Amino acid sequence: MFESEYQEIWIHDSEKLPDSCITCGMFTDQVVKAKAVQHHQKMVPASESNSMMALGCLLHLLGPIGLIAHTALQQGSSPPTTVQKTVVSKSKVKVPCCRLCGSHGIPEPTTADVVAGRYAFNAHPRFIERLNVLRRESMDEV
Ligand SMILES: [Zn+2]
Repeated sequence: MFESEYQEIWIHDSEKLPDSCITCGMFTDQVVKAKAVQHHQKMVPASESNSMMALGCLLHLLGPIGLIAHTALQQGSSPPTTVQKTVVSKSKVKVPCCRLCGSHGIPEPTTADVVAGRYAFNAHPRFIERLNVLRRESMDEV
């Protein structure tokens, strides 16, 4: 099947990309901004924990009684110094995508490493081929 020729390829956001549509492989000078979202775990001080802050806000809304309950909660439990929190990083990465494919939907990364600026896309074989040529050329320059 034609679809099976698509391969996942990692793209760096500062990388020079070929003028081929990432979806259909045809020549294009159009670029689209693909939205990338990454969920990752981060250790944060317990005081910054969202759940505790949300609870605090909620209790503050309840007025003086809530305030007492909040203080009691903070004193009663000894929270760990750090907690694991899921952080969502969002970014946009420019990828070549022709008008036609773009009208059907902006390509989305299959996996994103926003922190490192790397994004994986299911790309057309011709796009990958041309990207590999560019990568070889840039290696020759070094
Ligand atoms: Zn296209």
